[in-house]
Amino acid sequence: MSDSYLNFATSPWGGKLTDTLGLPKPLVLERYEAGQPVVRGSILVGGTTDSALLPALAQIFKSMGAHTLAHRQLPHWMGAANHAGLMTGRWGHEDQPGEKVKALVFDATGLTDSTQAHALYQFFHDTARSILSCGRVLVLGRPPESCSTVRQATVQRALEGLTRSLAKELKKAITVQLVYVAEQAQDELESTLRFLLSPRSTYVSAQVIRVGQVVDTHTIPADWAQPLAGKKVLVTGASRGIGAAIAQVMAREGADVICLDVPQAQDSLNDIASQVAGRALAMDIGSPEAPQALVQAALADGGWDVIVHNAGITRDKTIANMKEHFWDSVININLSTQERINEALVDNGALRRGARIVCVSSISGIAGNVGQTNYALSKAGVVGMVQSLAPHLAKHGITINAVAPGFIETAMTAAVPFAMREAGRRMNSLSQGGLPQDVAETICWLASPASGGVTGNVVRVCGQSIMGA
Ligand code: NAD
Repeated sequence: MSDSYLNFATSPWGGKLTDTLGLPKPLVLERYEAGQPVVRGSILVGGTTDSALLPALAQIFKSMGAHTLAHRQLPHWMGAANHAGLMTGRWGHEDQPGEKVKALVFDATGLTDSTQAHALYQFFHDTARSILSCGRVLVLGRPPESCSTVRQATVQRALEGLTRSLAKELKKAITVQLVYVAEQAQDELESTLRFLLSPRSTYVSAQVIRVGQVVDTHTIPADWAQPLAGKKVLVTGASRGIGAAIAQVMAREGADVICLDVPQAQDSLNDIASQVAGRALAMDIGSPEAPQALVQAALADGGWDVIVHNAGITRDKTIANMKEHFWDSVININLSTQERINEALVDNGALRRGARIVCVSSISGIAGNVGQTNYALSKAGVVGMVQSLAPHLAKHGITINAVAPGFIETAMTAAVPFAMREAGRRMNSLSQGGLPQDVAETICWLASPASGGVTGNVVRVCGQSIMGA
């Protein structure tokens, strides 16, 4: 469904009127198209004398073909960059700001005490007005739970408040994330930085992401434009909406996609499967036979590399008015089915080593919503499943993560009454709904063989919705 207010606000006279009336002014978001560079513009790097990730960052930016600049606070970035053979320069002159940049990256891993937080003020105060539209800001820290002192854990945890506030302040469709990088996990950072710095992450903002040591072998794709080349991927609920976009984006990234949906959706399922040169699998995943049927299908393929649990339903009513079967069907399809399928696939060796499981939750599962006790319970359960399964699956070399979409323009949200739909669209830092592609791009990052250090994460794709923030 098209967003007519966005079209109006970005037209010449509509733009003037929204300015005059002080109305929200969404920008047309930049979205990734095949063949684009990761970052279209320079990356400005900041940090402290004890920033630990500079050599790794220099290698990654070199691999991305990026151009970087050093903030005056971090002159030693020049040395790290030169050592990696990376093009770099100095930003600004004495107290004067330098050129506009597409991204800011601040390595805060060296902060061990709140008294050192002034370095953050200096960097972001100097640079906040110098970020181009649809720019990216990343703060890199250490997971507070693994810090060796209370003071270090305190200042590292404090980075969350900075990140979420910057994401609200910077406007111009600039997104801001905090990435906690575990000690010794710097080699697992590249796929995450490529995602977060690029237009692929256009509707992801104010997220806290944890990158740890790889759960299996370290993998660098032969071609970063096709990281899923040769991978067998199952996408449930693929005949329309977000599931169809996941199938399309995964095929673009090189995957061999098996598109699953209910038998009643066979025609549109066949269309999507042929568009992505994949296969259609008509099946009701809620049926008792589904887990074993999927095990057989996966084993016949020699095992699957990725499963995306996207299929989901809503049956909204307040709890007092809700019929029993509304409750049961939502919990079964959205949650219990995912549990049964994961167990069956793992127990029967139907997922290959290094496999990726990506689940679709919802911000309703994080914030709760009127009329959605069943749906929110199921989607919060998905979060619980991901967090509790991650350490067990790591033993099999498998990662599991979830995305939690906010308001995404699909048939599901087109059915929402007008006033609620408008509120859902505007009540976020980007003042608009996301597209199915935005969820799909996020899932592709989590499904990448290069994302072996990312497990147990729940990443919201919601433009920093105020719901549950
Ligand atoms: P949609 O209704 O357009 O698509 C869901 C698909 O799942 C449909 O094709 C449907 O046939 C399929 N499906 C349902 N039950 C199935 C079953 N038993 N077996 C096989 N397939 C089944 O929904 P969407 O908006 O594309 O949402 C996709 C996922 O994203 C869902 O899990 C949804 O809860 C979640 N989500 C969506 C939004 C949003 O704004 N659209 C927000 C948060 C979360």
